[in-house]
Amino acid sequence: MFQIEFDNQPDRVVGIDLGTTNSLVAWMNLTQPEVISGQDGEKLVPSIVSLSERDELIVGNAARQELIDHPERSIYSVKRLMGRGVEDVREELKLFPFRIAEGSESVIRVELGDRTFTPPEISAFILRQLKKNAEAALDGPVTKAVITVPAYFNDAQRQATRDAGRLAGLEVLRLVNEPTAAALAYGLDKRKEGIVAVYDLGGGTFDISILKLQEGIFEVLATNGDTHLGGDDIDNRLIHIALEDIQSEWGESVAQSGEAVQTLRQAVIRAKEALSFTPSVNLEFLWNGKAYRRTITREVFDGLIKDIVDSTLGPCRDCMRDAGVTPEQIDEVVLVGGSTRIPLVRSAVEVLFRARPHTELNPDEVVALGAAVQAGILAGTVENQLLLDVTPLSLGIEMYGGVVSKIIHRNSTIPASASETFTTGVDRQTNVLIHVVQGERELAKDCRSLARFDLKGIDPMPAGFARIEVRFLIDANGILAVTARDARTGKEQTVEVKPSYGLTDEQVEAMIEASIDHAEADYQAAQLSGIRIEADGIMAATEKAMRHAAWLTLTDEDRAQITAAMNRLKVIYCVNDHHLIHAQVDVLNQATHKLAENMMNTAVQGALKGTKVE
Ligand code: ADP
Ligand code: MG
Repeated sequence: MFQIEFDNQPDRVVGIDLGTTNSLVAWMNLTQPEVISGQDGEKLVPSIVSLSERDELIVGNAARQELIDHPERSIYSVKRLMGRGVEDVREELKLFPFRIAEGSESVIRVELGDRTFTPPEISAFILRQLKKNAEAALDGPVTKAVITVPAYFNDAQRQATRDAGRLAGLEVLRLVNEPTAAALAYGLDKRKEGIVAVYDLGGGTFDISILKLQEGIFEVLATNGDTHLGGDDIDNRLIHIALEDIQSEWGESVAQSGEAVQTLRQAVIRAKEALSFTPSVNLEFLWNGKAYRRTITREVFDGLIKDIVDSTLGPCRDCMRDAGVTPEQIDEVVLVGGSTRIPLVRSAVEVLFRARPHTELNPDEVVALGAAVQAGILAGTVENQLLLDVTPLSLGIEMYGGVVSKIIHRNSTIPASASETFTTGVDRQTNVLIHVVQGERELAKDCRSLARFDLKGIDPMPAGFARIEVRFLIDANGILAVTARDARTGKEQTVEVKPSYGLTDEQVEAMIEASIDHAEADYQAAQLSGIRIEADGIMAATEKAMRHAAWLTLTDEDRAQITAAMNRLKVIYCVNDHHLIHAQVDVLNQATHKLAENMMNTAVQGALKGTKVE
């Protein structure tokens, strides 16, 4: 037999941009980050997961056609649902053709065919495709990755992304903010010092970040953005207009047909993308023998999307304010995301920041390239660089009266830790409830609830005397651990903050078991081998017992039952079905129960008599 050894290869760590619209995987090819193409030669893997007619899961470009033919069997933009609750996304779901499974309560499950999946499971299918592409291209296993997330992602969304990585069989070494990755891709760390703005307008999210470079080290001064702004909004607007035109031209609406809308969506996207390079395009939509045609000039297009582009500028100004910089102080502007190819976007950015933006790298590859650089740093193939990120939202605890006490403020650089001392509000109080919240609002009820836990066993004292120290620690991935400690007794309680809408560890474990490639087959094989070992044991013991004196104490009927159970187990033993074997082991166990009892009794009697009984 031939076995392939990968042992002497260095640990390959890939960088992954898990996008709302498109996902990419990249690696460090010697000194250069490089995006890895799939088998189809395409670098961008559309973040689409479909169920084919033959009930197979297909991902990426292959799923694109399926999305047109069977929109009800396809899921896209799942990143919008990551780490979020049903209530969070109710409005949003109206725009999507796919449905959330009823009764899924706080954990979202989306329907695909007759199955349902959580958003991390869907993302894991995409990640697994990227992993597969990388393994094919690099000719070896890939088990470690750096995955990027929007700077705006909260704790739950980050956890969900990690869960997705785990489900895909990837050890997620680091989650990196997308803008930070983009700055790395441009190698801006080589610059001595300066202020850089990273403007990222993708398909579904808008992020603006201001980084400061000093001595070749980046620090993210501030981030801002909008989790609901991107090329999708432009597409939806064009679709909306086209649907109205069609309604008036044809006298009928096609808006009810998922297939029609998807076909129109593809046509609109093609037209929009072409318009970035030519002054005018022809939009064409053919449906049931009818044709809708319209010429769109860039001028008209710009007019249609101006408010969308303008709505990115407010967050940019807020971000500059938070960072304490003026446009004049910004030295470099980096463009990220496919939508920054739109000339109107470029000019708006240039006007606002009064600097010509970087466009040398492909805006849709830049984040993956930066993730690969970070992967290289972690794998030790790239000289170490210090990377500082910031926490996008403030973190604190609820105080008496529902007011929030912020412990780590938004835009603090991470890793970060901070602590504050509190006291009890009631005489002889022995428990305090620590309620961890995230957000900028004053009242806990307006913030996002991250965790609640009790610190018990505080020495009973008059109100105001106990000293409870609460320490917050955010690691490099932006994941929070909270420790509460009674200064007097030293009693403490720590929670790694689990997002309210995330998955429990058990759910993740169960999903890993259920969904990793071949997991089902592996599981069956493991069960089979386990139960056969058990069957071997009980058959050997029974055979031995049949030669024991106790055998003769049984009735003929009992003996016949055991023999029959034994013979049947020998036959079933060869069947590849652990349930069947298990059931028969149980039958034999049951049948030999009395025999075992009698053997015990004989042994005890023998022992009492001072004789040894085998
Ligand atoms: P995400 O980070 O959200 O996955 P990407 O950075 O891949 O998104 O950007 C995808 C968006 O960019 C889509 O809305 C796509 O239509 C848009 N896009 C890609 N190329 C162009 C182009 N040439 N002109 C305008 N928009 C484009
Ligand atoms: Mg992106």
